[in-house]
Amino acid sequence: MDLQFDLQHIWHPYTSAVNPLPCYPVSSAEGVYINLESGQRLIDGMSSWWCVVHGYNNPVINEAMQRQMHKMSHVMFGGLTHEPAIELSRRLISITPGQHWVFFSDSGSVAVEVALKMAIQYQHSVGHPERCQIATVRSGYHGDTWHAMSVCDPVTGMHSLFKQQLPIQHFVPAPQVRFHDEWDEADLEPMRQLITQHGKSLAAVIVEPIVQGAGGMRFYHPCYLKGLAQLCKDNGLLLIADEIATGFGRSGRLFACNYADVTPDIMCVGKALTAGYMSFAATLCSQEVAEAISRGDAKCFMHGPTFMANPLACAIANASIDLLLSPDYVGGLGWQRNVERIERILNSELAPLASSPVVSDVRVLGAIGVVETKEPVNVGDIQKVFVENGVWIRPFGRNVYVMPQYVITDEQLVLLCNGLKAGIRYLESKG
Ligand SMILES: *Cc1c(COP(=O)(O)O)cnc(C)c1O
Repeated sequence: MDLQFDLQHIWHPYTSAVNPLPCYPVSSAEGVYINLESGQRLIDGMSSWWCVVHGYNNPVINEAMQRQMHKMSHVMFGGLTHEPAIELSRRLISITPGQHWVFFSDSGSVAVEVALKMAIQYQHSVGHPERCQIATVRSGYHGDTWHAMSVCDPVTGMHSLFKQQLPIQHFVPAPQVRFHDEWDEADLEPMRQLITQHGKSLAAVIVEPIVQGAGGMRFYHPCYLKGLAQLCKDNGLLLIADEIATGFGRSGRLFACNYADVTPDIMCVGKALTAGYMSFAATLCSQEVAEAISRGDAKCFMHGPTFMANPLACAIANASIDLLLSPDYVGGLGWQRNVERIERILNSELAPLASSPVVSDVRVLGAIGVVETKEPVNVGDIQKVFVENGVWIRPFGRNVYVMPQYVITDEQLVLLCNGLKAGIRYLESKG
């Protein structure tokens, strides 16, 4: 592989053209293994950023993809429709809480843009054009496009760079009561105050339910989400649940909203939707939101991507959801007991790290394990240690974390955790 060409011409996520982080050349990937060109085999701890839940190169999904490819890879969705889109919509509506309409798009960030547009069009349609701003909590992450970026954490999301151009949104402190701690109603006070003060100019509140992902890997209390949903309802605001990272079982429930029995007005899914095969996402909404938008001035919802409802992506998503929900999934345990199995092992393997002098916190929820360090880690240095130990883990900031594939075996998961521990020992050795 021409790594020199890569270094000189190709952007990687959040990296520099003049001083890029090293990249490891991959030749193939299979199950939980990423095969490097060097011949080394790494156990995947990242699920390629929440996506690859059933393993790389999965024979069932490969089959579904090939079958669809021989029928058609794509047709426009304006004025045409197809079985894969109908089947996927049927599945999504049946498994998500309270959602009745599906809007397909190409990526998570676009799904968030679509959700924000839906909220504003909804308020316009019900006679509240002045309700055009969005509220959210700090430490959130909703994507890198313009309006998605405007609701990311203003500090870690680098608002300062784009400040003059970003629309004004409203931020309150991130939820403080942790998932497993005792609920305290005071946690909702900042949001309650914001809505009292600015409610009349707000169209919606957007949050990642229960798990704040790329903005800090935090797990907050289900009562926060439940209280927030009620606050929105009482004050004429829509609740947008961004389940792009949490959807399809990652948090321990099929959707993180299920922890609080909340039915959001609008919901975004992506990432694991296609099991890591293709970039694809969907924005779902309630019957009320869909009808109100369609009765408004525009008489329709104003968005329509070129690759909307791409049949290949829909067919893959159908196969992935069927696999996930099949009763004999991974050793006949089903998805939920597999996620519980992973949670149990992550808990027992990672808990001892809490006493390390370089670690400030260890937390686990569902198939997500986080070791928070006291100082930000040098990604390039620690990654070398991980690779030497046969695992693929990519930390950011002070979070060294794993979100394994649901198909990982107990033995592979222990090896993955051992690799993570080797990284922590390396940090300790550096003092
Ligand atoms: C990854 C992510 C997005 C953005 O998805 P892309 O496909 O990268 O555009 C949005 N919201 C959340 C919660 C995410 O984790």
